[in-house]
Amino acid sequence: MKFYDVIVAGAGPAGLCAAVAAARQGARVALVERYGVVGGNLTAGYVGPILGMVGKGTLRDELVKLLGVPENDMIGETGKAHDVERAKLLLARWVNHENIDVYLQSSVAGVLKEGNRVTGLSIATQEGLLDLKGSVVIDATGDAVVSYLAGAHIEKGREDGLMQPVTLEFTIDGVDERIGLICIGDVDNVQLNGIRFLDWCKQRADEGKLPQKLAAVRLHPTVYSGQRQVNTTQVNGVDITRVDQIFKADLELREQMFLLEAFLRENVPGYENIRVISSGTTTGVRESRRVMGDYVITAEELAAGCRFPDVVVHKAEFIVDIHNPAGAGQAEDHIQYCKPYDLPYRCFLPAGLEGLLVAGRCISGTHRAHASYRVMSICMAMGEATGIAAALAARKGCTPRALDVKELQQIMTNQGIDLFDE
Ligand SMILES: Cc1cc2nc3c(=O)[nH]c(=O)nc-3n(C[C@H](O)[C@H](O)[C@H](O)COP(=O)(O)OP(=O)(O)OC[C@H]3O[C@@H](n4cnc5c(N)ncnc54)[C@H](O)[C@@H]3O)c2cc1C
Repeated sequence: MKFYDVIVAGAGPAGLCAAVAAARQGARVALVERYGVVGGNLTAGYVGPILGMVGKGTLRDELVKLLGVPENDMIGETGKAHDVERAKLLLARWVNHENIDVYLQSSVAGVLKEGNRVTGLSIATQEGLLDLKGSVVIDATGDAVVSYLAGAHIEKGREDGLMQPVTLEFTIDGVDERIGLICIGDVDNVQLNGIRFLDWCKQRADEGKLPQKLAAVRLHPTVYSGQRQVNTTQVNGVDITRVDQIFKADLELREQMFLLEAFLRENVPGYENIRVISSGTTTGVRESRRVMGDYVITAEELAAGCRFPDVVVHKAEFIVDIHNPAGAGQAEDHIQYCKPYDLPYRCFLPAGLEGLLVAGRCISGTHRAHASYRVMSICMAMGEATGIAAALAARKGCTPRALDVKELQQIMTNQGIDLFDE
């Protein structure tokens, strides 16, 4: 049994920022990660570029600088995917703080509870089960594993239960930059042979040259010339929290990756000599469990640029980007833009549970709202807010719910985090 002020489950963009933020507040932190590398989708998932914006002064600014992608913008028009291999080292160095014990290759296997209060985690390590006790636990597992095991109220997907498709991202090299196009997704009108590239892809799919569900061929630039980050493979109807569905999905995605490599080589000018050089070590999951909290935020609020007195993430901005749960492309015929919005502290407090905070894509919101705040910049800012909150609660000997949010906001603004409109 080991004792900590703060235990963070999951070392993705949210969990890393939660751990570092709590440690910088002086808390003793355990960071538990099931893979042998930190970074979550940012590394193991091969996901990039880092999309979305948040108000100034958060760890997001520090991280994009660290990873060498300071020019990244909201939807990736000028952004570039980071060097994933380098990121594995840079992020490991970043989290290598004297106050943080990092448990790699260690999965959350159970939750320690006293009544409705989460008091720690049981983790499956190479040495067997190990119990970690903590004043506050932060669930940054993306899939809300801790909250689920603790008995939180969970929702998944839209009304019919379908979730956004899973995708395996991969990197190709060998693009001739003089003619090889870039396509960042549905917002992009880049042309090929006089028509919009994505419409051209659709035509090729109609001719049988590409499976219909792979017709949205997204080709992001990376920090290296001649490379593209390909965000196109997809399998629909997968619930990644069902262990019997994972292998088949991963297998199909890896088949699609090489099918796409061949399609690009044969059909897209400048891509004749490309080859796959790397891919996610794991299936990329856009959507799984959402933890219902003290407040459930909606896409309508995000679109309107909502403000809350208990704001802890300010001026978050990204489109409502719903990859079609039932087929190809976007779920709705149009992209919905949002005004820069706030996320309230209540979205990070799982209803009916004490001692637990959630951060990252599994926070409390609707299916459509999740499709906006799930991007990495926003998840980083969420992680940081919960890390500071958890450290403060541990210091005061209170639960995260009992915190004075004004005091939390004061600490955040004192360290330069932009929380309020001028
Ligand atoms: C295919 C795809 C493309 C995307 N494209 C973009 C993009 O271009 N830009 C962008 O900004 N965002 C993009 N996103 C969204 C973004 O990557 C995620 O929403 C974001 O990474 C969520 O951050 P997180 O920290 O909440 O979760 P994650 O990044 O998923 O990290 C969660 C961490 O928890 C760990 N974990 C899970 N369960 C356990 C357990 N039981 N025990 C221990 N550890 C555990 C995981 O291993 C992982 O490291 C994309 C997502 C996908 C899937």
